[in-house]
Amino acid sequence: MKDENFLKANNARSLWHPMTAPSDSLKNAPTIVTGAQGVRITDLDGHEVVDAVGGLWNVNLGYSCQPVKEAITGQLDRLPYYSIFRGTSNDCVIELAEELRTFFEPDGLTRAFFTSGGSDSVETALRLARQYHKIRGEAGRVKYLSLKKGYHGTHFGGASVNGNANFRTAYEPLLPGCHHIPAPYTYRNPFNETDPARLAQLCLAALEDEIAFQGAATIAAFIMEPILGAGGVIPPHPSFMPGVESICRKHGILLIADEVITAFGRTGAWTGSRLWGVKPDFACTAKAITNGYFPFGAVMIAESVAQVFESDATGKAAIGHGYTYSGHPVGAAAALACLAETKRLNVVENAAARGTQLYEGAKALMAKHDIIGDVRGGHGLMTAIELVADRATKSAPDKAIPARVQEVAYRSGAMIRISGPNIILSPPLILTAADVDVILSALDAGFLAL
Ligand code: PMP
Repeated sequence: MKDENFLKANNARSLWHPMTAPSDSLKNAPTIVTGAQGVRITDLDGHEVVDAVGGLWNVNLGYSCQPVKEAITGQLDRLPYYSIFRGTSNDCVIELAEELRTFFEPDGLTRAFFTSGGSDSVETALRLARQYHKIRGEAGRVKYLSLKKGYHGTHFGGASVNGNANFRTAYEPLLPGCHHIPAPYTYRNPFNETDPARLAQLCLAALEDEIAFQGAATIAAFIMEPILGAGGVIPPHPSFMPGVESICRKHGILLIADEVITAFGRTGAWTGSRLWGVKPDFACTAKAITNGYFPFGAVMIAESVAQVFESDATGKAAIGHGYTYSGHPVGAAAALACLAETKRLNVVENAAARGTQLYEGAKALMAKHDIIGDVRGGHGLMTAIELVADRATKSAPDKAIPARVQEVAYRSGAMIRISGPNIILSPPLILTAADVDVILSALDAGFLAL
């Protein structure tokens, strides 16, 4: 490894960071992570902390998952790459597709289309949704509906259905025909509704209203995260996603579940759709599918959608879409090992138990610190703490405040993530009760330092 001075000087000189203003990385040097074991990361300066971010919601099994590492190195030796474009396949990807079919069968999803990550998975589902309607002779169904505050990656399609201006404005004009409805976000919503069940009904009514306004026959799909993640961990009321599903069915609109964060146990259920008892037409996955060790993703496709493509007699079902790395054998080997470990360790159980501990602990911090306006979570290891300058007005805190909490929390033993006024906590699903205590006491230290 190059020395400290080389790394710090050249990070500033030659590298741009995602989701960061280049001038910001010049002013505030990033933490340079040089190692990781279990649920802990180590930086260049020798600090070792619990990673309460879990990589980027993806390192569900921690950093020492030997079977996934061995699967990757073994596959690199055996077959480091071959494409699965027309005419070729590989053994690993076939085995993985079968495993995923079993895993997602309770959600009614029985085919896999492989990608290189979450944004690719979203793009794939959006495109296949339009194609589905074209095959069925409804070529006018081209629009997409989604939730404000939703996050669906950064390709042009995903950015167009994203519901947060930070990821849109600089890149406009985006895809035409994308329309957003209010999210069931109890703490802040245009209806001033504080009851989650009533808010869900209001948002569903807004969806019906938008469909009527656009015309159902112009809409291809509705896309949503079962629990909104990057938008600030917003779990909808249990009636919301089933309500969306039945409205979509009624109007012939496909339902795309963006499960890039929620699939594979993070919510304390095996998938976000299963958490709410919904059967989507597509589920976008990535992240934890390889525990973050290899860029990879899969779009799972419902049996009913698959039938339309597979029985097409019009010649419109050829998939004119795919990536050089679709079905990458090393990614497939990593995903196979990861799925086996995820099931063997039964991570959902720990995600649910530790998730409750983290959520309750964060609520206890709210009783102690006025800077906390809202705590959201309660479904596995996805928790957000929203900071406010004033609880009565819910006005945003000074921008320096979340950064200060983060800095002190880091020095006190935990890496946390800041997104606007939110502190986002999404640690590996294998962490222990003692690790959760470390995160909570580091947060407490961060708030006490304000
Ligand atoms: N969808 C959701 C719900 C996500 O959270 C993310 C990433 N945070 C994406 C899509 C995009 O995934 P990627 O960054 O792997 O392209």
